[in-house]
Amino acid sequence: MLIRTLILVLTLSPSLLAQISPEWKEPFPPHRIIGNVYYVGSKGLASYLITTPQGHILINSNLESSVLQIKESIDKLGFKFSDVKILLISHAHWDHDAGSTRIKQLTGAKYMVMEGDVPVVESGGKADFQYGNVPSNLYPPAKVDRVLHDGDEVKLGDTVLVAHLTPGHTKGCTTWTLKAQENGKSYDVVIVGSPNVNPGYKLLNNTAYPQIAQDYERMFRVLKSLPCDVFLGAHGAYYGMEEKFAQLKQGGANPFIDPDGYRKFVTDKDQEFRAELKKQESGK
Ligand SMILES: [Zn+2]
Repeated sequence: MLIRTLILVLTLSPSLLAQISPEWKEPFPPHRIIGNVYYVGSKGLASYLITTPQGHILINSNLESSVLQIKESIDKLGFKFSDVKILLISHAHWDHDAGSTRIKQLTGAKYMVMEGDVPVVESGGKADFQYGNVPSNLYPPAKVDRVLHDGDEVKLGDTVLVAHLTPGHTKGCTTWTLKAQENGKSYDVVIVGSPNVNPGYKLLNNTAYPQIAQDYERMFRVLKSLPCDVFLGAHGAYYGMEEKFAQLKQGGANPFIDPDGYRKFVTDKDQEFRAELKKQESGK
């Protein structure tokens, strides 16, 4: 039986297996990034709390098992989990949205999701073009309270977030921008949805997502057009979260202000996408 299970696991293609990294569940110290923007995620999965006098916005609910961790991070920062009024996501993959139902139940937050990701979120992952048939990537379906479109604003208190449709990785993949104030200056914050082409993604002749390659092109155009001082993303690894957090403790300039890092990341990911597209076009 064990051998048979092993053979089954080994013969499944990697894209069909839920790739759970141990770092996704490893706690990480919550910290202030800039202004009213805080990190409340794990070591491997980013989650952001944006605080306002009228309650808070949470970006990314992460895994079902992350919800308690996120709550503890919010508590540690001295805020109240029950003050989360709005829940947003980077994109509709289980590692960023599986905890949403639980967070809605616990806080009563309104769940706002980009149009292309709504069927995925509301089917608990079953409508996903790549992972819909992978049981380990499914999660409790969550009802969306407001459907977002490209350029829509999400406002709470004195904070305005803008939803930028940056599709490809998922159909409704969203990059969030906002302005944060620190020491009398205003900074452009960009929270990248995901520019990655996952293993197994078909960029050509993809019947479940015919315009996938054009969507990736659009996403890179959008990312290149956004003004960015503070570079963040769906995983801390995008922007060197751990290294920057270590620098934070040394004092000095805010390490999260990193416009060059943002431009380099976008350029590198664009090149990765183009290399993968070429590879698929050549049939290798
Ligand atoms: Zn993803």
